[in-house]
Amino acid sequence: MAKRKILIADDNQQIRLLVGAALRSLGHDIVQAVDGEDALEKAIAEQPDLVLLDVTMPKLDGFEVLGFLRKQPETASTKVIMLTTAAQQDDLQHGADLGCDEYLTKPFDPKALRAVVEKVVAEMDS
Ligand SMILES: [Mg+2]
Repeated sequence: MAKRKILIADDNQQIRLLVGAALRSLGHDIVQAVDGEDALEKAIAEQPDLVLLDVTMPKLDGFEVLGFLRKQPETASTKVIMLTTAAQQDDLQHGADLGCDEYLTKPFDPKALRAVVEKVVAEMDS
């Protein structure tokens, strides 16, 4: 599997640490963002292959960030996995409408995280 640059956008430091460790163990490069504005700036500046995007964040929520990313030519096709606390049908539909690629429901274990990331990365490789 090719090494990828992955942006983790979550206001919860514990989540960033957990996700970062799990994905570094797969050999990927990790960039972190601490809120929605930071996520947007880093998605544009760093051009990650994949963004793990928390829904509930200060400044801009994950849906707002996703909407902006999809409107920018540089990030329109960047892969996005949304991180939600509850897989509420409204959230799933909203994310799908905005063009997210996958969902991961918190709390998740590193194994589930690696599985969904590997699936999305495999789609990029194919
Ligand atoms: Mg949050």
